Amino acid sequence: MTEIFELRDVVMMKKPHACGTNSWTIIRVGADIKIKCNSCNRIVMMDRTDFVRSCKKVIAHSEPGRNAEPEANDTI
Ligand SMILES: [Zn+2]
Repeated sequence: MTEIFELRDVVMMKKPHACGTNSWTIIRVGADIKIKCNSCNRIVMMDRTDFVRSCKKVIAHSEPGRNAEPEANDTI
């Protein structure tokens, strides 16, 4: 469980995705959190409370000061 996370952090959840991968990238942070499976690109949305409860740990923090990556696609 973690409450410290940011956009584009890579997180491990308590349960792996159905595809067997347990590596997710946070693509939206707000009242709801959207995470994307790093293997099959499936996007899951949940509220912040559920996310904090379901998240096991942050694997990799996004790198501050690095702006090379484009903005997260938020068309869904
Ligand atoms: Zn998956």
